[in-house]
Order: sequence, then C-alpha cells, then structure tokens
Amino acid sequence: VTERAAETIRTTCPYCGVGCGVLARPDGAGGLEIRGDRAHPANAGRLCSKGSALGETVGLEDRLLAPQIGGQEASWDAALDLVASKFRAAMTEHGPDAVAFYVSGQLLTEDYYVANKLMKGFIGSGNIDTNSRLCMASSVAGHRRAFGTDTVPGLYEDFDQAEVIVLVGSNLAWCHPVLYQRIAAARSANPALRVVVVDPRRTATCDLADLHLAIAPGADAALFNGLLAEIAAQGAVNRDYVSAHVSGFDAALEAARASDIALTGLPAADLAAFTRLWIGAEKVVTVYSQGVNQSSSGTDKVNAILNCHLATGRIGRPGMGPFSVTGQPNAMGGREVGGLATMLACHLDIENPDHRAAVQGFWASPAIAPGPGLKAVDMFRAVEAGQIKALWIICTNPAVSMPEADRVRAAIAGCDFVVVSDLTAQTDTARLADVVLPATGWGEKDGTVTNSERRISRQRAALPAPGQARADWQIMCDVAARMGWGDQFSYKSPAEIFREYAALSGLAGLLGRDFDISDFATISEEDYDTLAPFVWPQSGAKRGGRFFAEGHFYTPDRKARMLATPPRMPQSVLSAATPFRLNTGRVRDHWHTMTRTAKSPRLGAHMGEPYLEIHPADAARLGLGPATLAEVSNAQGRAILRVLESPRIAPGSVFAPMHWTGETAAAGRIDALVPAIVDPVSGQPESKGAAVQIAPF
Ligand code: SF4
Repeated sequence: VTERAAETIRTTCPYCGVGCGVLARPDGAGGLEIRGDRAHPANAGRLCSKGSALGETVGLEDRLLAPQIGGQEASWDAALDLVASKFRAAMTEHGPDAVAFYVSGQLLTEDYYVANKLMKGFIGSGNIDTNSRLCMASSVAGHRRAFGTDTVPGLYEDFDQAEVIVLVGSNLAWCHPVLYQRIAAARSANPALRVVVVDPRRTATCDLADLHLAIAPGADAALFNGLLAEIAAQGAVNRDYVSAHVSGFDAALEAARASDIALTGLPAADLAAFTRLWIGAEKVVTVYSQGVNQSSSGTDKVNAILNCHLATGRIGRPGMGPFSVTGQPNAMGGREVGGLATMLACHLDIENPDHRAAVQGFWASPAIAPGPGLKAVDMFRAVEAGQIKALWIICTNPAVSMPEADRVRAAIAGCDFVVVSDLTAQTDTARLADVVLPATGWGEKDGTVTNSERRISRQRAALPAPGQARADWQIMCDVAARMGWGDQFSYKSPAEIFREYAALSGLAGLLGRDFDISDFATISEEDYDTLAPFVWPQSGAKRGGRFFAEGHFYTPDRKARMLATPPRMPQSVLSAATPFRLNTGRVRDHWHTMTRTAKSPRLGAHMGEPYLEIHPADAARLGLGPATLAEVSNAQGRAILRVLESPRIAPGSVFAPMHWTGETAAAGRIDALVPAIVDPVSGQPESKGAAVQIAPF
C-alpha cells in the first residue's frame, strides 16, 4: 500500500477523536472494503465496530445528488445565487451579525478554514460556531484559563507508559474503543498498571477498572478538589515546579480545602484508595471526556483536574498528564483553525486587538470580527428572536442534537432564510431549510483532520463525488465569489487551503502561540497528497513532542494558572414532579444522529431502538417491566423509550442515548428534554443533568 496506490486508499476514520487510520479499497460495486491501517500511529491497525463497518455506510440510497430550492431540484447557479443574495441582503440591511454559520466537528480542516475566513474576515462577524460546542468547549476554556492556549499536553503513547490511568466521565470502551483497547494492551504488557473509572454509571469501561468510583452526577470538581487537598496534606506538592512555573496555587488550595467531599457521595474507603493510587504513582494520566465537559460547571471541572497535575508537576513528561479526548474526528482541527465563535485561527485570541489585526492583515480582508460571536445555544436563541436573518448549517443536525431540540427546531423553521449543506435532504434539520446543497462525504472528500493527540492525518477520497455533490470548501468559495470576494476564495484544491493555513500558523508562532505547522506553508500538491500523519507542532524545538514539562506556558508571565474551583452541582433541580436525573450519551455502534451508521444492519443490531436505562428498583416502583415502554418528560419535552433495567445505573438516575431522530415523541429524540443550561465560561450545555419525570406509557 502506498499513500495513494492504484486501488487501496490510505485515509482516516470519520467518527471519533481517536483518529484511526483506515485502508479503503473500492469493491467495484460502489462500496468499500475496509481494514485498519497498521502504519497509522493512532491505531496500529485496530478498528472498532463502527470503523470496520464503514464500507456498509457509503451507499447512495438516500443521498442528495443535486441542489434543492424549496424542496425542488435546482441548478447550482440558481442555488448559489440565492444563498449569496440572501446573505448579502441580510448583511446590508441588518449588519454582519444578522447572519450566522453553524458548522461541525465532522468538517475537514480545510472546510473549517474557509468557513472561518468567510465569516470572521469577510462578512465581519464572529457568528460561526460548531457542534463541537456541545462536545469539548469546556476543555478548550479550561486549557486556555490554565495554559493560555488550548493545548493538549500529551500523546497517546503516554497511555502505554503510565502507572495509573484515571478515566473521568469517559465511557472509552464504547466512545473511543481503540483507545480502550490500547489501555487494555498496556495492562497486558504491564500488569502493575492500575485503571480507575470515575462515572456515575458502571459502564463497559469499568470492565477494565481496578477501582470504579460511582460518583454522584456532576461532583467531579469536588473529587479533584479533595485530591488536591490530600496532595498538599501528604506533602506531595512539587514545590520546585510550582514556584517556578505556576501561579494561583494558594487560592486553588484554599478553595479545595473548603470544598465538600461529601458531594461525591463516595465511601471513605473508595476515596482513600483513589488518592493512594493517584498520589502514590508519579506516572498518572487523567483522561476526561463528556462527563466532565457537558456540564454547567464543566470548565471548573477541567481546571480542578489540571490543578492536580500542575501542583505535582505531572505534565508534559512521558506517561503523565491531563488528557482531554475529543468526541469528533476533527473537533481538534476545528479548535486549531478557529471554528469556534470564541477563537481566531491558529489559537490566536479573538479578544486580542493585535491578533485580530494580524489575521486581517494576513487575509487582506475588508473586515475582521470585532470580538467573539454567538455560542451555539445563544446562536439559536438569536435565531428564535429573529435577530439572525440568514443561517447556514453545514454537516450537522441541530434540530436533533441541540438541547431543547423542539425549541431549536421551531427556531430554524421560523428563520427568514436557512441553508443546509449535507449528504441527504432527509435530516430533521434539512427538512426545514429553504435551500439544501449536496456535499461530498467521507470516502469522497480530501483534506486533513486532527485527532485527540494533535496528530494531523489526511482523509482521502476513494470514491467519486456522487451526482452534483461538491466539497464543502468549494461550496463556500462559490458563495464567497458571488458575494464579491472571488479573488480571496479562488482555491483550486485543499492543498492550496492547507498551505495558506500553514503560513498563517507561522504568523501565530511569531505572536507567541503554540500552534505552528509553518513548515508546510510551501508543501506541493504531491507532498500533500502523500502526507503522512504527524503530531504538531512541526516547527521549532517542540517538534512532535509534549508540552509544558519545561514549564513555559502561553500566559503573559509564562506561568500556568491554578484556579479556585468551588464545586457547583447540576442546575436542573430535582423535585417531586421531576425526581430523576437524566444522563445522555452515545451507544457503542451508532454515531451522532445516525445518518451513516443506520445504514449498517450489523451496527443497528447492537442497540436497535431508543431506550431508557433504569435501575430495577426504580423500574419496579414505577410499574415498568423489562422491555415495556416508558414516557420520559419535563417542561422541555417528552420521549417514549424502551425500558432497559440495569443494576449498572444508580437508583434515581437514568440514561438515554442521543442518536435517535424523528418528529414524534415515540422517535426518542432525547435532546428535546435537555434544558439549555450552559457553563458560564465555555457555553457548553449541561447534557447530563436534566431533571425528568418517568411513567409507564
Ligand atoms: Fe473510528 Fe473511533 Fe472506532 Fe477508531 S475508535 S475506528 S476513530 S470510531
């Protein structure tokens, strides 16, 4: 196999943030034969059930093959003219903040770059946000508060070298299966490796755990505050590292000491075992995911974890450090390229006038966003209020996945002008659009993605674009040209976009930012085509390595910040009317709103319908039998779900998957019940804390 051999294409899985390498071979009948890529460092040939079924998901049965206006097939020219004229008219009449883009962690970096440049540099608004806001915005905010930049310090190989791995709010076995397999392999090689899982549910990941802490929902900051206090009490603070490289230690410790460990609901023996393991081994990796991020106190939870690593200097060296694993294949790429309303490209700060001026100068653009734009929840509130007159939704399905999904669906339906670019016109969101544009999808498009360890890999096309489908970056350039900016959006290939992006990262490096891939600013088409996976930064002394062991952070005084993180519990109040705490999340074999995985019968066989995981004692008390139907409701919405009794969930809590879609409550669209309560720093919704009522249906 070569990078682009005649028949077998080396590419990357489009699902989770592990970023596994995939070998895709066209089967001659429009499908693909799929194998894991042994040469890819992220997975060394392993694939999970979703990745290995990719070949079953590329059929064209439901594909959108031509643009549609008002549900009728239209020419590209007519559709693009209409989109450009509507966006231009909204800007002219109401100003640049009257338009918005809502994009996706499924986009390739080159798509993201063009979207961000068009909105922030040419339209002149910060109103571009992404479904990654629902996924890891709290990690971004926590990193920026502690490090000055959104930097993941470590690498996957730290998992192989650790003595203790702590998984917090992360069902790795289902949501990042190849990383879970990597930890299992590490323990086979080193039986002394200890694994701790912190999760209210006894998930499949606990099968690997030496210690499962069934923590009270939302109490993670209380746990890590307790750990910090214990680190200090046991004399385990790394005084040299803290005095040289950290500020805020005293305030963080004072708040940690004042924190109530009883909020965790954990027995003293479990807490003692946890602190003994964490403090007793220097090589500790603390992995965290949506159970930490999807919270009204998500940013503080992240900082509570970072505090413990900073206090002990356990960061940036082999086998240790905090590690945020991202949900989507290119959530990291979106963070790097400025796909969030709160960032500029290349980790430059949108609040910083010098950074804004530098980016505007680089783009030679007529405008630059004057500051942060609307975060996802606020964006759809502005749509609801009629303040957003033209909305472009790209590669995502907010009518299903946003909190208060019924309300979001109504807001989109009421918006003056909505464009959706997607693979199909059959999503809940696309059905509401005035214009639907056919985009190429995985297997048909070319570009790059960044996985959770900062590794940039190529996604490559193995199949032709179906019908009239175009790449997302191409569609956005076509619209930009019709808005009068053709010269600045005249890219002929994703490589050309990547070169510009790499050059901009060099400017960011000169401004003291961490993200630098400027060595690729002159990469040829051929070298881009054959680009092997690499970890950034790819310039300077840190090339391909870890961050922060030497203690240089990206704050004005180059010190990391420890923060006081008094615990705040989920904000939805349990009451007699709504006595259950609803946790939402993924199942092993489906992805997001199932536009791809629902095509595979074997993936559908794992969990065939939406369900409610509930403790047997609660089920009995409510008169719910196994596999009967339950009605789950609150002020936001209702869903009808199949009962799955399980002692793995604590009494008083229930779990429902996020994937199922449809118009009626029976479709099980669970985000209709999630209130749009957000973290005040990151804007990330609390997707795991709704208060709900449950009754037999
Ligand atoms: Fe794809 Fe993630 Fe599975 Fe790897 S672990 S094959 S990236 S879904």
